[in-house]
Amino acid sequence: MKLTTKQFISDFEQTLHREEMTTFDTATNSELFVALAKTVRGYYTPQWIERNKELTQNKEKIAYYFSIEFLPGRMLETNLLNLGILDTVKKAFSKLGLNFEDVKNAEHDMALGNGGLGRLAAAFMDSLATTDYPGFGNGLRYKYGLFKQRIINGYQVELPDSWFGSIGNVWETRKDHDIVNVRLFGDVYLEKAEDGHLRPVYRNAQVLRAVPYDVPQLGYNNGNVNNLRLWDVEIPEEDELNYRSLADLRRVQDITAILYPDDSTDDGKKLRLMQEYFMTSAGLQTIIKTYLKLGMPLERIHEKVAVHINDTHPAVAPAEFMRLLVDDYDMEWEDAWNVTVKVMSYTNHTILSEALEKWNEGLFRYVLPRVYQIIQEIDRRFVEEQVAQGTPSEVIERTRIIKDGNVHMAHLAIIGGHSVNGVAKLHTELLKADTLHDFYTISPEKFNNKTNGIVHRRWTQIAAPELSAAIDKTIGKGWRSDIHKLRALDEYVDDKAVQERFAEVKTDAKKRLARYIYDTTGVQVSTDAIFDVQVKRLHAYKRQLLNVMYIIKLYLELKDNPQVAKNMTPHVFIFGAKAAPGYHFAKSVIKIINELANLINNDESIHDKIKVVFLENYRVSLAELIIPAADISEQISLASKEASGTSNMKFMMTGAVTLATLDGANIEIKDEVGDDNIVIFGMDKDAVYSHYDKHDYSSRTLYDSDPTIHRVIDTFVDGTIPNIQAEGNEIYNALITYNDEYFLLEDFESYVKAHERIAAAYADQKTWMHMSLTNIARSARFTSDDTIEQYAQEIWGLTKRKHE
Ligand SMILES: *Cc1c(COP(=O)(O)O)cnc(C)c1O
Repeated sequence: MKLTTKQFISDFEQTLHREEMTTFDTATNSELFVALAKTVRGYYTPQWIERNKELTQNKEKIAYYFSIEFLPGRMLETNLLNLGILDTVKKAFSKLGLNFEDVKNAEHDMALGNGGLGRLAAAFMDSLATTDYPGFGNGLRYKYGLFKQRIINGYQVELPDSWFGSIGNVWETRKDHDIVNVRLFGDVYLEKAEDGHLRPVYRNAQVLRAVPYDVPQLGYNNGNVNNLRLWDVEIPEEDELNYRSLADLRRVQDITAILYPDDSTDDGKKLRLMQEYFMTSAGLQTIIKTYLKLGMPLERIHEKVAVHINDTHPAVAPAEFMRLLVDDYDMEWEDAWNVTVKVMSYTNHTILSEALEKWNEGLFRYVLPRVYQIIQEIDRRFVEEQVAQGTPSEVIERTRIIKDGNVHMAHLAIIGGHSVNGVAKLHTELLKADTLHDFYTISPEKFNNKTNGIVHRRWTQIAAPELSAAIDKTIGKGWRSDIHKLRALDEYVDDKAVQERFAEVKTDAKKRLARYIYDTTGVQVSTDAIFDVQVKRLHAYKRQLLNVMYIIKLYLELKDNPQVAKNMTPHVFIFGAKAAPGYHFAKSVIKIINELANLINNDESIHDKIKVVFLENYRVSLAELIIPAADISEQISLASKEASGTSNMKFMMTGAVTLATLDGANIEIKDEVGDDNIVIFGMDKDAVYSHYDKHDYSSRTLYDSDPTIHRVIDTFVDGTIPNIQAEGNEIYNALITYNDEYFLLEDFESYVKAHERIAAAYADQKTWMHMSLTNIARSARFTSDDTIEQYAQEIWGLTKRKHE
């Protein structure tokens, strides 16, 4: 949109007066933020109304992205950038003598997600709007986001993340006209109605009111607005007599209280299932109602509606859609099934079989009695059809939805949809060959790959404005609207002036991070040091512990032989990671990192050659500070375990060099930058699978035969690292007694060598900047705009919005 600084200042001031009843000279950052956000809302509201009218008029097909997580982080800058007024607003702020950074920081991250999966969903929202496709999100409006992490005495402590705070969510709008009811529990039996149809009769069901809150999603400089719909729960007025105590009320509110309630108990599991069904049912009900307003018959709903199941959490969707079509809209089963399969599609995010959701049959039937009956019928017909097609009986047994007393959600998503995709080339290959092999033999045509991506605008223009300016200066501004123009940087990777320009930008980002590290941890780090970063959820397969083992080795070496320090560039190891509250092992790793940091950072004998920093409460806004400051990007999961990874792409885009295993999208990064501009180590997936096949891995043999490994592992239990008795034992046992599930010991030597190679490259500034610049130049391959183009065309069959 077009907006002068003068006009903006006047709008902003009026809003501040009207909404906050205060003035520029007295307003707090938080008041300024709210006024600014409301000014911005005023700018996009007409676009939003216009676009909604247009969608109905043109009867455009809409894709609905169902996800239990959305992790947008802060929205202010994205909205300003996408409206094309970020620079204008920043200029206005300096004119007014206000600090834009402080006001921006008053926004609380919208953290309705854990990590990669939720961030991807948020990225897709931005990219759908930007690529001009009608694609809406459907999720839950959690009152508390993912927990807030504090580190106390080296331990992770979880606090509620009250992200609404005193401000609330300034970007959302409650939509009363789309409220629907969702039914759970009770008894259901079928009764013949007068028209001859069998109709379910519900007794003693619990009825909940689903209230939608819409969060507009703006496209980049194109005037497009999509919608992210988040559902909240309320008690229907007609039902209020059933909720007489505060405890009753709280039990209902729990449904949208937190992301991933502790599901180690039956109550927790039940709540989880209720959440998943609640958001799925509410979403599907309004989708059908919206569709019917077009005046088309339900037999053609697949022409106007696509529903995407992001991971298995919304995988009840095919069954719920069938229930609605058959029970509420009187469709014949075959007709309903025909459209259901065409509407639904599914993304798988993991090959870890323990992460493929399944529900105990008894629990499922108790919470969702009618849906359970529908699933039984889907399952029965699936078996019948497969028998008729001559599918081997053991394959049928393994692929059916209800088996061994469980309802298998991924099976429902695959059988009830027309598309199954993995999220990186290797991941999709493994799904076909291994995790979902049986389904692949039955329906190979359903399988396809869609490598993940990132919103490059957030990681460059928003998170790294100086880097963006340096790119402008080198190749012009065209890349800001066509990211593939970044490739032009290829011409400059060995240009001395350009190298110096980008080195300076990196140093500036490192200075900013160093200040933050000092302010939050008291640790002083030098920007001359290599910033070596591993930030991501804490999980055994991601192998933060391998990184820890390397740090210990380096530390012992410096202690043994001070000569080593002479030729060594100082090295800062930076971690950020939340551990799931019930994940004991992961929490122990956090404790060990913190105690190791204490030991090393306070040991004067190593003269600051290494520093270890753990930054608490890793989240999107912190990622924006950390990632542009990284020299080394640690992507060291055991080959085959990381479906894709997306932080690997963010680091690449801001000029870090990747130190990686051949896993997930690291492989595609390597293919893009070439072997010389990435440092690869460790087993590939064939080596890993060979150990599984032959059962021939023995960590104890490695421990006994390799003195370095032996010594490093012993530090967990011999008192070298203080205050980690229980945790050290746990780690020692995981690595030695329980045979090192993720093969850290086997990859250790190769990891050490890779570190030596990358340090040598860093020491030669010319080589390093060549590598760094090549990574930036080739990073456009991972824009989520392109990923979404593929989803839109190949899975959802969407048409781009027409500009008149
Ligand atoms: C990108 C991102 C992730 C995903 O990181 P991976 O290294 O791909 O697992 C997790 N959390 C946040 C806050 C992110 O921005």
